[in-house]
Amino acid sequence: MVFDSNISISVRCNKCGKSIIEDMSFFQMKNGKQVCIKCECGEVAAKVKSRDFKTFHVLIPCLICGKDHKFIYTWKSLPSEKVKILSCPSSFCDIAFIGGQEPIRNLTAKREKDMQELIEALSNM
Ligand SMILES: [Zn+2]
Ligand SMILES: [Zn+2]
Repeated sequence: MVFDSNISISVRCNKCGKSIIEDMSFFQMKNGKQVCIKCECGEVAAKVKSRDFKTFHVLIPCLICGKDHKFIYTWKSLPSEKVKILSCPSSFCDIAFIGGQEPIRNLTAKREKDMQELIEALSNM
């Protein structure tokens, strides 16, 4: 079995709002082990787990509605050159991105820049 085992996840901490990017590999989740994506403040921003070798579950405590959202993907559906956007089902806001290491970093940087520009535009009003 040959495939890119490394994916990245980009989430925002639901406690302090900090943006977190973490790399994880398929092998970290071997034997049903859960991977916790932790923020610097100690808050768990996401939990990822793979019960079998085909799918993995992502659990994200939503910073918008306060509920935990669960997303289920197959490893095959995550090509390393693409990004999947995970959004909150009640507010339709993007809460996380998951995918290849490169595209995740590019998208996160772009989103951060958009956010920065929005904040600047609002403060200049
Ligand atoms: Zn935090
Ligand atoms: Zn939500």
